[in-house]
Amino acid sequence: MTNHDPTSPGDARLPIPDRLTDAPRSGGMVVPYVTLSHRDRTRPVWGKMHAPATRRVWRHKLCQICGQPLTDWVVVYLRPVDYRRALALEPGMHPECAYYSASACPVLAGRIDRYHPDPDRHLALCGDRLCGCRIWQRVTDEPTELTGQPAEAWYEAWLPLSNYTIVTDHGNDTTPPTTGVDLRHVRLRRLRRIRDAAPGADEAMDLLAAIIVGRQLFGDPDDPQ
Ligand SMILES: [Zn+2]
Ligand SMILES: [Zn+2]
Repeated sequence: MTNHDPTSPGDARLPIPDRLTDAPRSGGMVVPYVTLSHRDRTRPVWGKMHAPATRRVWRHKLCQICGQPLTDWVVVYLRPVDYRRALALEPGMHPECAYYSASACPVLAGRIDRYHPDPDRHLALCGDRLCGCRIWQRVTDEPTELTGQPAEAWYEAWLPLSNYTIVTDHGNDTTPPTTGVDLRHVRLRRLRRIRDAAPGADEAMDLLAAIIVGRQLFGDPDDPQ
């Protein structure tokens, strides 16, 4: 999730992992690699993704927070609807970057119950003539289905890098084309719920919750330590 809201209390006090010590910051918070920002990276547009950076992250299997190559274990955040579609829409992360991101994101941390209401309100031009903000309207591609909606339940899962496969769903009349992590034939390790669904969110068919209950009953000896 890249919907950090720097006005949320406590964010800037989060310990920053070594991997992110050189990353740009805004208000004390790390600006994720895929977050749209002015040329001055300390001026992000929270809640908007930069399309070219996002494409690089998918194509080269980079971490969406630090932008470095993913290694042995990849952490993916997903919702029950993603699992039903077998496609996780959030690019993977290093475990330590994921932990930082989930703690900093007010939706994933459960501090707020709605997705960012209007990311466009920050799309103002800055004074830097070399800044890309003059063409942003053509290069942003954030999925807008979430804007302002009540947050669903979110889960964390780990995948070995060898199982981290990127696919593009070409969509149909009602679903736009989407790139994501292929969840078919993949065993989700260390699966846990990181936030509950907010009031009013779609809670139908939460198969991830059922998987967790099953593993609690029967154990899951394959989990990484
Ligand atoms: Zn700018
Ligand atoms: Zn990372």
